[in-house]
Amino acid sequence: MVKSIRSWRETFTTHADGSDATLTFTELVGEADGPTIGISASIHGNENAGSQAIVDLFRLLRGMPLKGRLLLLPVANPRAFAVNHRFTPIDELNLNREFPGDPAGNYTQQLARAISRHFLEVIDVHIDLHSGTDRPTVDYVYIWNDEAMSRAFGSRILYRPAQGRGGTVFTGTTKVVTLDRRGIPCVVVELGGGIVDQTPYVARTVAGVMNMLRQKGAIPGDVVAPPAQTVVREIATIRPTRGGWLEPLCPPLGEEIAGGALLARVTSPYSFETLEEIPTPYARGVMILSHLSRNLVESGDYGFMVGNLEGAEP
Ligand SMILES: [Zn+2]
Repeated sequence: MVKSIRSWRETFTTHADGSDATLTFTELVGEADGPTIGISASIHGNENAGSQAIVDLFRLLRGMPLKGRLLLLPVANPRAFAVNHRFTPIDELNLNREFPGDPAGNYTQQLARAISRHFLEVIDVHIDLHSGTDRPTVDYVYIWNDEAMSRAFGSRILYRPAQGRGGTVFTGTTKVVTLDRRGIPCVVVELGGGIVDQTPYVARTVAGVMNMLRQKGAIPGDVVAPPAQTVVREIATIRPTRGGWLEPLCPPLGEEIAGGALLARVTSPYSFETLEEIPTPYARGVMILSHLSRNLVESGDYGFMVGNLEGAEP
């Protein structure tokens, strides 16, 4: 069983309002020895489905047999989380681009350093939960360096980023810092978001993480075999170039979209005219990030992510 549970705060600086800037951790220590598995969420403050899932995971896991230790960081960027904002409001930086951080740097770099010191550098396995925001909904899992654990989450679509891309997109993210420094197994989950009920996504996140924990031997039980999975090697991110109502026309997440089909149109909320029609970029694509309802967007917002099925693997 879980031998002990402890929550504590680590202070890394002060705010101008007099409060301490802190990170809150919870650890569950099992009776048997085993690795420390770190689970983090809300590195982007407006992606809180993972934070919701960690609440439910805690309630489930506290009464279960556990091998090793679980270290929970349910809110990695508390100031951004509190105002439902992707970036840290204090300096408008993307926390996920500031690792390993700097204790003498700006606010987000200090936050990143505290996460590195108190979390990334003390765990043996890392599960990082991202989601869509309160507009787009997303559904895929990255394969970095532990394909079996990535597949055990149970998503139908996985993404294996091309190697040797110069590290432009991923340099400085938690993933690469974690990988480069100690090579610990690391899985990044992208699931949920949108102006829709989050209950099914949170439930799938809980079930997926539980299966990864079984796969790592942290909790007992048979690993549930994943559904038929597709691993894409290339994902296109498509952004509307006009602001207005984004009206989705595409198939559901995980479904194929044929070449020439429209992902969405952008309609003027004022004149009702069609401002833009957004086609899918591939001859054979699969829906990875989408808008599930008519959403208001600005030019350049996250629109869609489509995986290329040409060159995809089972
Ligand atoms: Zn994110």
